[in-house]
Amino acid sequence: MARDTCSHHWQAFAAGVLTLLMILLSACGEEERGLVEEVAETPVETFLTLSPTSTVAAVLTPTLTSGPAQVTPTSATITPTPTFRPTEQAPTPADDEFDRELTDSEEMRARRDELVRRRVMPMVSDQRVIAAMQAVPRHSFVPTSYLDQAYNDHPLPIGYGQTISQPSLVGMMTEMLDLQPGERVLEIGTGSGYQAAILREITDQVYTIEIIPELAGVARRLFDTLGYSDIHTLRGDGYYGWWEYAPFDAIIVTAAPDHVPAPLVAQLSPNGGRMVIPVGPPGGYQSLWLIERHGEDVTMHRMFDVLFVPFTRE
Ligand code: SAH
Repeated sequence: MARDTCSHHWQAFAAGVLTLLMILLSACGEEERGLVEEVAETPVETFLTLSPTSTVAAVLTPTLTSGPAQVTPTSATITPTPTFRPTEQAPTPADDEFDRELTDSEEMRARRDELVRRRVMPMVSDQRVIAAMQAVPRHSFVPTSYLDQAYNDHPLPIGYGQTISQPSLVGMMTEMLDLQPGERVLEIGTGSGYQAAILREITDQVYTIEIIPELAGVARRLFDTLGYSDIHTLRGDGYYGWWEYAPFDAIIVTAAPDHVPAPLVAQLSPNGGRMVIPVGPPGGYQSLWLIERHGEDVTMHRMFDVLFVPFTRE
């Protein structure tokens, strides 16, 4: 009998603990669901109508190695150390593999002006960014089969499962960098080379890294042909940044990792360096973050949701 009572007590206790656990778990679940919904409610088609808002401003511990972007209210020491980075020369594409239209024309210029006026100027106020987008012949950066869509405001395939980003998003991300002439900027994800050319219109210190050799090769040839030959290119895994030329006043990442690569934070200038980076799970929407570094303090602002190709590793 005594045992029975004891077991009753035990059962009641266990039930109580279970209930408490379930309440706690469901509370956590609510939070998680809220977060997921926030992301899901912002489909990429509508992000252009959102005005950028700073929903999170906190200090990042730049030692994240995996998982989604985490923000913790602590400061950490950022120790810049050289990191292993396998690289090679980009192969020069043969003429028949270099499928790009290099000439500009009245018609292309007119389409470009129209795109900038209708889709970029409503979102971007930095005159340098607008002038850059009016200057760069976007149609030369897409395969010739997409020439007629080069000045539409959406991404386009560039081969190897990759895309050239949507023009208005290129404009907004470039504006977020607040790039000044003469500043040094690093891009991870050269892709078509379009974003790098936009950066080169603003500053003469452009560094860009691409992991896929064929894309790196096509972009290199485009830069040499279109008057952007002083853009520095590298074929390799941009996770490690480009140590030899650090620190960078600005870093722009155009593929989405699931966490902020620590070497990139370490290579950001401690004197007000800015990094724009999409962070999120592969295959889902990501959040675009603006990261600013002042000394050892790294502040992250969450801007809006985007959809980028995954950041790959080697
Ligand atoms: N900025 C480009 C967008 C290209 S899409 C443009 O203007 O066209 C993103 C690119 O990032 C792809 O070409 C992809 O191969 C590249 N990429 C993905 N992971 C990378 C990594 N770890 N290092 C360098 N490039 C990477």
